[in-house]
Amino acid sequence: MISVNDNFRLLPESYLFSEVGRRIREFKKVHSDKDVIRMDIGDVTRPLFPCVIEGMKEGLEEMSKDVSFKGYGPEQGYDFLRNAIVEFDYSLKGIKISADEIFVGDGAKSDLGNLGEIFSEKCSIALMDPAYPAYFDDNVIDGRAGRFENGKFSNILYLDCLPENGFIPTLPDRKVDLIYLCFPNNPTGAAISKKELKKWVDYALENQSIIIYDSAYESFVRESDKVRSIYEIENADQVAIEVRSFSKTAGFTGVRCGYTVVPKYLKGLYANGEKVSLNSLWLRRQTTKFNGVSYVTQKGAFALYSEEGRKSIKENSDYYLRNAAVIAGSLGEKGFKVYGAKNSPYVWACLEGGHKDSWLLFQQLLEECNISVTPGIGFGSHGDGYIRLTGFNSYENTLKAMERFRSRF
Ligand SMILES: *Cc1c(COP(=O)(O)O)cnc(C)c1O
Repeated sequence: MISVNDNFRLLPESYLFSEVGRRIREFKKVHSDKDVIRMDIGDVTRPLFPCVIEGMKEGLEEMSKDVSFKGYGPEQGYDFLRNAIVEFDYSLKGIKISADEIFVGDGAKSDLGNLGEIFSEKCSIALMDPAYPAYFDDNVIDGRAGRFENGKFSNILYLDCLPENGFIPTLPDRKVDLIYLCFPNNPTGAAISKKELKKWVDYALENQSIIIYDSAYESFVRESDKVRSIYEIENADQVAIEVRSFSKTAGFTGVRCGYTVVPKYLKGLYANGEKVSLNSLWLRRQTTKFNGVSYVTQKGAFALYSEEGRKSIKENSDYYLRNAAVIAGSLGEKGFKVYGAKNSPYVWACLEGGHKDSWLLFQQLLEECNISVTPGIGFGSHGDGYIRLTGFNSYENTLKAMERFRSRF
């Protein structure tokens, strides 16, 4: 029989969300009269904006005529989209990024996973704990995580994100090659200030590390001292790759589009000591294994940079933030310590005074209040005792769920 990639054996047993789904189905089997309100969903629920639909229709119309039909597109994405990204996400904010540093892709998850291919399997890595589970799994599959001993991987430096540090990790006490940071954070909802992020950029400059900065939730930032792009920090283009997505910002989870910024300044070393540009490696990787995002999708994404598109993004994220605020308020009333919700659609909560296992809290909320949450332990060992709730349901369902919670918990 064929030999397989042995690294898969090191992956955790079941994916967090499938276990949550399984337990909800089990509950419904026994209690078919109860409707469970999903507060665990990491997916958006509001439809695409009218301007996006218009943009996509236009694109489809062009595709239907031989004079305007489009086949394979430009390698890094269409100019109209990359130029709009440069102008609105960077230039207008005083950040210097050029169109050939932008790579349009089918979403942040693929890029976050695939970026691992341009780095040596020997690179040491630092990951936030808790964190979005894909960072761990990607590095395990790539064989970069090392040995699994006492619940930890030997080549991963776990960056503790705790209430004591406001869920902003402290700098490593040793040199690490590749650092994954995500702000506003999933699951803790923490956003990072310029002052705090500057410490990381300075660390990376000093240690010649590369930061992979996941800013999938940048459109939720409301406090002016919090960072939306790592390139707001001086010299970050010398150390950071930024990964962005239209998924949570504009309801693109099913459409699939995002982009990654790989500054031309970034360099790496081959084993023989020869220098190579990371931008050119990523271009080589993408052109070999990826053939771009559909024209229709890129037309839809382009519409997000129109005046109407930008207004809709703000309204859309305001809607989810309002839900998160409702959740945070209700949990706070009932003896939970509550984090997040301010610059993020996520609420991260634990019981005040007294630890309770994440899965026990999950079960209690499911059985007594008929609401589902995500157990924090699924995001890392420091997630134990926490639950994550999201503002991604409808406002009406959020109010209904919180009413239930306040009357029964
Ligand atoms: C949802 C999410 C992503 C994935 O986004 P897609 O663009 O839909 O692949 C990436 N990072 C974080 C932290 C997320 O929560």
